[in-house]
Amino acid sequence: MEPVVAIREVGVPTPPPRLSPSGAGTFEQCPRRWRFRYVERLPDPPGEAALAGSFAHRVLELLMQKPAAERTPAAAKLIARDEWADVENDNDYQALGHDDEGSRHFRWKTWQAIEGLWALEDPTTVDVRATEQDVQAVLGGVPFRGIVDRLEDEADGLVVTDYKSGKAPGSRYRRSRLDQVLLYAAAVKEATGEMPVRARLLYLGQRPVGIDVTQPELDGVIEKLSDTWTAINTACDTDEFEPRTGPLCGWCPYADRCPEGTAEVAKRQARKAAE
Ligand code: SF4
Repeated sequence: MEPVVAIREVGVPTPPPRLSPSGAGTFEQCPRRWRFRYVERLPDPPGEAALAGSFAHRVLELLMQKPAAERTPAAAKLIARDEWADVENDNDYQALGHDDEGSRHFRWKTWQAIEGLWALEDPTTVDVRATEQDVQAVLGGVPFRGIVDRLEDEADGLVVTDYKSGKAPGSRYRRSRLDQVLLYAAAVKEATGEMPVRARLLYLGQRPVGIDVTQPELDGVIEKLSDTWTAINTACDTDEFEPRTGPLCGWCPYADRCPEGTAEVAKRQARKAAE
């Protein structure tokens, strides 16, 4: 059954109609930050790394939509050239204030990520079923939505793939980074009845990080999603969103509105200055 969608007013805590991995991740990182972002709807402008990642994603999306034999570095370069105008005119990109040299460096960094695909696979051999696939399903009672970078067919079944342009995790964080693609796999299974065989992250230019999809793995991520959903609903009912201070306060766009975060940033700066 489809969830009942509440009308959401700015400033009035209301659970979202659908929970995405990024929404769940923001709440798990800091409930107060979630309130600023999803209740107050204050802007959370993407930084340079996020913008470069989106640009690389877009180029790879268009590349993988081409017939297999045409997925070459030269084709990717042409796509990047065509897409650059959109990025260059984007308000978030312009807010970075790059001069010509900065702009060249941005494009070079993005190209490094795009070209990094060939270090991981031969794109001409990938049997693409869909790119940027919108998947929606109710998982463990949670209305879930995600956009999957790529679904492909391999000899033993369906594979869920997401590109990453950030740094690949060490062994300690490897498993938790896979929660997102496992949720996508769970949503694909729920929506279509087809169980993917693998879920993986392609850290462009570095290495793939993947996992075999099993029912216990799906149950684990669905339970975690359900716990987060319950916590979001409780916080919205009571309008209590605890600040979870830590190193990420230094990158939080709302730190100057958050007394605890401001104090945390000052404490860390003082500690660093004393070193
Ligand atoms: S500054 Fe820190 S505690 Fe405050 S909202 Fe941001 S992440 Fe949360």
